[in-house]
Amino acid sequence: MDYQETIFTKIINREIDAKIVYQDDFVTAFYDISPQAKVHILIIPNKFIPTVNHIENEDEQLIGKLFTVARDLAKKEGIDQSGFRLVMNCNKDSGQEVFHIHLHLIGGEKLGKMC
Ligand code: 5GP
Repeated sequence: MDYQETIFTKIINREIDAKIVYQDDFVTAFYDISPQAKVHILIIPNKFIPTVNHIENEDEQLIGKLFTVARDLAKKEGIDQSGFRLVMNCNKDSGQEVFHIHLHLIGGEKLGKMC
């Protein structure tokens, strides 16, 4: 499959609007346009990586940074103690829709069980 850069590249480059809550040279985080819970933020690498299958060993630090940003945003949103879920979908069976990896930070309410 041939992967093209997605709408998330345009969000990183601020070519289209999104509610960006964090950005540095490596990572961008913004509110999901269709939130599945009271808090729903997407945390993405600025580097184009279409799926988890495309993560390279040299990306280890970058992938770790998605989690430290998620940790900090959970605290900023006031859900670090109540709890939250971090999810990254991969390919068809997971329902991945945007082929630029993204960590979902979901919380702010009691979440259902994972399937
Ligand atoms: P996936 O199903 O690929 O794991 O999740 C993609 C997520 O991106 C969905 O939750 C969807 O609502 C969100 N999304 C898709 N397009 C946009 C957009 O243009 N802006 C924002 N903020 N979120 C988007």
